[in-house]
Amino acid sequence: MDNIIEINDVSVTYQKDSSVIHAISHLTLNIKRGSFVAILGRNGSGKSTLAKLLNASLLPDSGEIFVDGINTTNEERAFDIRSKVGMVFQNPDNQMVATIIEDDLAFGPENLGIPREEIRKRVDWALKTVGMYEHRMRATQKLSGGQKQRVAIAAVLAMSPEVLILDEATAMLDPRGRSEVMDTARKLNKEKNITVVLITHYMDEAVDVDEIVVLDSGCIATKGSPLEVFEQIDIIKNTGLEFPTATETSLKLRGLGYDIPVVLTDESLVEALCQLK
Ligand code: ADP
Ligand code: MG
Repeated sequence: MDNIIEINDVSVTYQKDSSVIHAISHLTLNIKRGSFVAILGRNGSGKSTLAKLLNASLLPDSGEIFVDGINTTNEERAFDIRSKVGMVFQNPDNQMVATIIEDDLAFGPENLGIPREEIRKRVDWALKTVGMYEHRMRATQKLSGGQKQRVAIAAVLAMSPEVLILDEATAMLDPRGRSEVMDTARKLNKEKNITVVLITHYMDEAVDVDEIVVLDSGCIATKGSPLEVFEQIDIIKNTGLEFPTATETSLKLRGLGYDIPVVLTDESLVEALCQLK
């Protein structure tokens, strides 16, 4: 698999009053095309800054970022990068531009000057993909939080993206809305080969991803498969993270002297318990 995103020794600072905030410090990271990556880290660790770097809405102070081989500083390709890397944010109410769902989806492609016929096709396809086609004539404000976020994802899809970034896109949703959005993201990754970058505070959303990257003070504290990452108990605690629910239980049982492995899911927890003598 090749890299859809390459981040080479990137730093970003913000000026706040008289002090300098090092939001991202000498970060190097590749994201494989078609992978599902979770970015974890406490508030202020640099996750949203990293997300903005990936679609060129923010440029690095130093270092380079390539999206599908295009340097994000290349102004002539800024439009390409914006359509290749779509973002969905936390607040479902801040992302709608039109009152009717299908108009909302047509807005982005219209701005790109895409022909009407093609827009129609893309909008219908995007709405079907997120399971909102039958609602296409409804008012955006009448939807549930989960439905709004699925429409926001559809709006990104209508731009034919390579990468979908969800920046805490499930944070304001109820459990049902969260699973609607997560199921949609997994489906796009599996069926459409869209690379997903999931920024989340819910550790349970990260148990089945391809790779986890843990940020701390703008640096990578650790990365690897979910099991590799959550087995590093001290790093998880020191970076202010929690454990997935099943992992937490397995750690408690280990603390009580039960001989079971660190697990990520309920299924493997049950399996481990059944193996106990
Ligand atoms: P996260 O998304 O992980 O919470 P952010 O990337 O939003 O982290 O922020 C990283 C650091 O940069 C924090 O210390 C935050 O306060 C600071 N920061 C973010 N955006 C700005 C900004 N526009 N101006 C000044 N400081 C900022
Ligand atoms: Mg953030």
